[in-house]
Amino acid sequence: MILDIVQAGDPVLRRPARPLVAGEIDTPFVQELIASMRQTMYAAPGVGLAAPQVGEGLQVLVMEDGPQSMGTMSPARCQELDRRPLPFTVLVNPVVEPIGDDVVEFFEGCLSVTGYSGLVRRWRAVRVHALDHTGRAVEMDLAGWPARIVQHESDHLAGALYVDRMDPRSYTTNANLGRFWKARPPAEVRETIGAGTDLWPALRSR
Ligand code: ZN
Repeated sequence: MILDIVQAGDPVLRRPARPLVAGEIDTPFVQELIASMRQTMYAAPGVGLAAPQVGEGLQVLVMEDGPQSMGTMSPARCQELDRRPLPFTVLVNPVVEPIGDDVVEFFEGCLSVTGYSGLVRRWRAVRVHALDHTGRAVEMDLAGWPARIVQHESDHLAGALYVDRMDPRSYTTNANLGRFWKARPPAEVRETIGAGTDLWPALRSR
């Protein structure tokens, strides 16, 4: 079943999601939730979806990336973003930790913040500990765009949105992202928009 994706402002997106307990993953409710999240992600279309985005405050996420999602993106652009095939993956109760110190910055959007994007810094590579759709413990190392996807979706489970992490001055409609920013290196975008400008001193002096 294709589910409605809730939008920013819905309290469910701000509540930390509850971990699933042993034996709960096998229940029809959770298995149907996973199947519906998969269908909903494909229909959106998107490369990741977390349960709070469909109104369920549970620590479940799904993700998948591949040629069907990369669409008309050029090979050069795919390489720049470090997009690589990510088979359909279900993660329950995921814990994400960085591998190394490398940080990468790209524009990122969210199905719960429809129509907008912003520059977000993420770990380039991460290790994930979780349970799979059968409740089995899994560990996986992800790098590049898949690492970004799992960081984004795990944030949802903690009640966080990418807008909490983005440089707020980079916030853009997707139309303007394509028109002005997408083709430019993130460092050049930062320079142009005055990323990191501190507005508080001016406000504090009032
Ligand atoms: Zn999202």
